[in-house]
Amino acid sequence: MAKIYGVIIIGSGPAGYTAAIYAARSNLSVLMLQGYSAGGQLMLTSEVENFPGFETGILGPEMMEKFESQARRFGTEMLPEDVISVDFSQRPFTVKTDLGEYQSRSIIIATGASAKWLGLPSEKQLQGRGVTACATCDGFFFKNRDVIVIGGGDTAMEEATFLTRYANHITIVHRRDTFRASKIMQDRAAKNPKISFLMNSEVTEVLGDEAVTGVRLRNTKTGEESTFDTQGVFLAIGHQPNTELFKGVIDMDAAGYIVPSEFTMTNIPGVFAAGDVTDHRYRQAITAAGDGCRAAIDLERWLAEQG
Ligand code: FAD
Repeated sequence: MAKIYGVIIIGSGPAGYTAAIYAARSNLSVLMLQGYSAGGQLMLTSEVENFPGFETGILGPEMMEKFESQARRFGTEMLPEDVISVDFSQRPFTVKTDLGEYQSRSIIIATGASAKWLGLPSEKQLQGRGVTACATCDGFFFKNRDVIVIGGGDTAMEEATFLTRYANHITIVHRRDTFRASKIMQDRAAKNPKISFLMNSEVTEVLGDEAVTGVRLRNTKTGEESTFDTQGVFLAIGHQPNTELFKGVIDMDAAGYIVPSEFTMTNIPGVFAAGDVTDHRYRQAITAAGDGCRAAIDLERWLAEQG
């Protein structure tokens, strides 16, 4: 007979690993389906300086390796597989990946969020040929080039600042006249001589055949169109919660973020959610990890009540 796990955790970011550490230490059998991009969003960043315990900072991927080792130490089984469907209609729940089928008494959804794109055909056409959403992954390819970063939040400031290590010049293109980014991040970017700002401007087309050569811009106040020469386009316009799989079954808000019903439990008893998949406000590793802890404790108590 197939093994029935105490809990299946879907996702391997800070929320998933923390939930695994707590659940495994409470003697539950834990299977983590990590997804093919194991480690989550912090695999896309360099220095993490705001996670307590790492006094002098730590590289994102290195931090996630530590999370993973700690979860393994307490017996969490891990598979680098993407979940393609979940049958929530009966317990034990059945979770399918493209490689297998697994059963559990409870589930923690910790699928996080993914970067958003503008949705322009030209953007898609030039993805990987100058258009990217990951400065950490692709910054190296833009040595001594002029690039733009699209966005107005912390991510845009962070990506632009990071890119100064490689690029000749970075222009942050933002469609409003003020930034949503925190003051400290804005100030850091503004102080950097390699960064400049282009406000009230939106990209309507990415230009180039084999590689990016520029963008077409529209002034959001006057409607005036112009072109701007650039060799790289970095998207930093926010994130989409990874909840497509659960639509119509798990309660969500209009943006697709899971809305728990009682503490971290969703509208389906025995199904819990943690991390950025529920959080459009804080979106931090520490809050995601805290959520993972809460979800594991909630589910231990829920399982105990089930007898
Ligand atoms: P995620 O990290 O998004 O992980 C989600 C996981 O779910 C991934 O492993 C993915 O593979 C998996 N998954 C998704 N769908 C499926 C599926 N169908 N099946 C199986 N698995 C699936 N935070 C900080 O605190 N400090 C920082 O310095 C910092 N810097 C950042 C820099 C950048 C560029 C970015 C993008 C984010 C940064 N953050 C930072 C935010 C932080 O990364 C997130 O808040 C945190 O990673 C959220 O954790 P999570 O576990 O909820 O989800």
